[in-house]
Amino acid sequence: APAKPRKPDWLRVKLPVGPAYANVRRLVDEHKLHTICESGNCPNMGECWGAGTATFMILGNVCTRSCSFCAVATGRPTEFDTDEPRRVAEAIQLMGVKHAVITSVNRDELKDRGASIWYETVVRVKELSPSTTIETLIPDVKANWAALDTMIAGGQEVVSHNVETVGSLYRLVRPQAKYDRSLEQIRRTKEAGKRTKSGIMLGLGETKEEMYRAMDDLVANGLDILTLGQYLQPTKRHLEVAEFIHPDLFAHYREEGLARGLKYVESGPLVRSSYHAERHVNVPI
Ligand code: SF4
Ligand code: SF4
Repeated sequence: APAKPRKPDWLRVKLPVGPAYANVRRLVDEHKLHTICESGNCPNMGECWGAGTATFMILGNVCTRSCSFCAVATGRPTEFDTDEPRRVAEAIQLMGVKHAVITSVNRDELKDRGASIWYETVVRVKELSPSTTIETLIPDVKANWAALDTMIAGGQEVVSHNVETVGSLYRLVRPQAKYDRSLEQIRRTKEAGKRTKSGIMLGLGETKEEMYRAMDDLVANGLDILTLGQYLQPTKRHLEVAEFIHPDLFAHYREEGLARGLKYVESGPLVRSSYHAERHVNVPI
């Protein structure tokens, strides 16, 4: 087997400390909330929580899917709390978040894929914090387009759905998802008049040609904003990193994406879907 690549210096990050971090920690605990920052072992917690922001994960912390890159637990979810929208909205209000990012696990077992909770959460956040802008990072609705319509109807400014990787790696990386179905979900979101966003993790073995192709497909399906970041293996049981992508190549992909018609590309080793998300609300599209 080829030698495992060593983690390069550009992936070193600061440890989380400071009063803003402690405040987010306290509110998350008090409101019994889940965050993808913690579930996903995100390397940016020091920066984001230190700046008073986090990405909330609704509909529980157990997912019906088992993507090979993801640290969220897989199983049969039991959590369905109609009070969750209120708790999330209150925490966002108390944190004084200017731009909230909300995501969820996949709830394939629910008829509406959790759309009612999604809708209610967005509406409640807007009620309690009318000037707060919202990005919803929504799961694959598995072609339940009525569920999609409900999920995106609450008044959020940005709707993201991550394709995560190039088409040829779907079976390895997102076995329960389909590349074309994710593209269709993005296209339908755009047709509904929303600002669209997606993300790809690099370093899983994708080629440059496949990356260009993916960006062309995303543009053809109405994507506005794309985030590109380095995949990091959350635990030894997860997919191994195939390659650490050099910052120069991230910069190159950014230029390529813009040349191919994307409106905005956030690209760098530590970029995550919710990283610098507040910048994506006002990008001209
Ligand atoms: Fe959380 Fe996103 Fe920041 Fe990571 S980049 S700490 S997931 S808000
Ligand atoms: Fe993780 Fe989302 Fe895949 Fe569930 S659907 S395993 S939360 S990436």
